[in-house]
Amino acid sequence: MSGRHGSTEKDTAGGVGRPAGEHAAARGGARLAGVRKTYGTGDTEVHALDGVDLELAPGSFTVVLGPSGSGKTTLLNVIGGIEQATAGSIEVAGEEISGRSPVDLAGFRREHVGFVFQFFNLVPTLTARENVEIIVELTGVGDARRVPDLLAEVGLADRADHFPAQLSGGQQQRVAIARALATDPDLLLADEPTGALDLTTGRQILGALLDLHRAGRTVVVVTHNASVAQIADTVVTVVDGKIRSVEHNPEPAAAEAVSW
Ligand code: ADP
Ligand code: MG
Repeated sequence: MSGRHGSTEKDTAGGVGRPAGEHAAARGGARLAGVRKTYGTGDTEVHALDGVDLELAPGSFTVVLGPSGSGKTTLLNVIGGIEQATAGSIEVAGEEISGRSPVDLAGFRREHVGFVFQFFNLVPTLTARENVEIIVELTGVGDARRVPDLLAEVGLADRADHFPAQLSGGQQQRVAIARALATDPDLLLADEPTGALDLTTGRQILGALLDLHRAGRTVVVVTHNASVAQIADTVVTVVDGKIRSVEHNPEPAAAEAVSW
């Protein structure tokens, strides 16, 4: 079969095109024990995380709730290896990441984690397609040929050549989700992903995250909006750097049920 382009191998790269509702093999998961994150020293010391024990099952969809300043972002960032915890054990996707150097953590993030932020953080001078491709180039992880599939997966097949300024907020957030998927991560971590969006657009973004969860990924969404919790199978409430409660929801609602 020389000269034949492409591959006869089965595409095992993370469920692109997998129909919604069909749960794939679960990936990711996290286990935290005695995790602390302290900023500053002495008078300015802040215990952003103050002894967190938490287990997120592989393939779970977790919403983290809590008031502003309660430690939600810090929790997400230590799970994703953006920040080093001050103490405790953090096992993510089967790897212990506490105590690792920043360089090691960068490697861990490349292999396992995708992040989505409130304000999209796209490069304004690159098109939607290029904003996703650059992640493959920079990390050396993933396959640039998959980028059109990723954009299609988030409903942006017809916007690939648009620049961020030519896209609505919801479309920009879809590009950001496709970018987070570029390395085919086990975990998708989203910090207030609907915080800058209107309700209709926000529901669409939550629906897109639910679809990615059905493809097997562990998804964690941080929000101050309690209504978002109803779409999660696991709801974690954080207060003053501590876990206040972990509730399991046997019948999560669809994104349309969310309101604000
Ligand atoms: P949330 O996301 O729930 O609003 P954060 O995790 O951002 O909360 O912050 C938790 C606490 O840690 C807050 O008191 C915040 O001011 C503090 N904090 C967060 N990041 C830093 C930092 N880089 N330096 C100092 N204090 C910080
Ligand atoms: Mg925050």
